[in-house]
Amino acid sequence: MVTCLLLSGCGAVPVTGRRQILLVSDQEIFQAGLVQYKEYLSSAAISSDPTSSAMVRNVGRKLADATEYYLKTNGLQTEVSNFAWEFNLVKDSQVNAFCMPGGKIVVYEGLLSVAQTEAELAVVLGHEIAHAVAKHSNERMSQQILAQSGLAILSSALSEKSAVVRETATTVFGLGAQVGLMLPYSRRHEYEADFMGVVFMELAGYDSQTAVTFWEKMSSLGTGKVPELLSTHPSDAKRVSNLKNKIPEAKEIARNLR
Ligand SMILES: [Zn+2]
Repeated sequence: MVTCLLLSGCGAVPVTGRRQILLVSDQEIFQAGLVQYKEYLSSAAISSDPTSSAMVRNVGRKLADATEYYLKTNGLQTEVSNFAWEFNLVKDSQVNAFCMPGGKIVVYEGLLSVAQTEAELAVVLGHEIAHAVAKHSNERMSQQILAQSGLAILSSALSEKSAVVRETATTVFGLGAQVGLMLPYSRRHEYEADFMGVVFMELAGYDSQTAVTFWEKMSSLGTGKVPELLSTHPSDAKRVSNLKNKIPEAKEIARNLR
């Protein structure tokens, strides 16, 4: 990528090795995300269902441990410090979940009507954690910064850059006033998160084959109201078959690391 040669802000995605533009520091992304996350949580109602809350914490913890294990055993120890995991179940009938940079995970109660087993929940959480590990928010923000301000922003004062980060954070994270209006990830990011997600699932002890059956189940819910998760994650036949093709590779990666 030409821009990668010109700029210092480049990285490689764990697991896939894809090169990406990262113009914002991990710390800046974490802070911008944290502001939105705290705003969101202060307006959300935490679930009063102890069994389901425990399930979310349990599955989230297993995936977080697996993710950290992957990073540590692949020379990415420093990445582990980017995560301060939190797992929340909120009282909301939306079929949805997200993971902010830093590992701040939120599951809506409505998701549990579709993701009924631990493994099914792990499909969604593994995928959302993968977006965070792959720094897709940073990449999207970097692309927006480049589109809006061009390269000039890179040489401008840090305070100006921070202002742009704050402005773009709202559209990139889609929280706060804009819940449900999150800018969808690109197809490339979705496929990447699918693959990385099933690697983390396998490492956490779940059968990644569940990802195929789960997304098939999700797409069959298309009649009537489209689940929120599907509006940002279109689950078409191409996506499912792509995932299916990647499962042997994911299992192999996990097997070699155990
Ligand atoms: Zn996604």
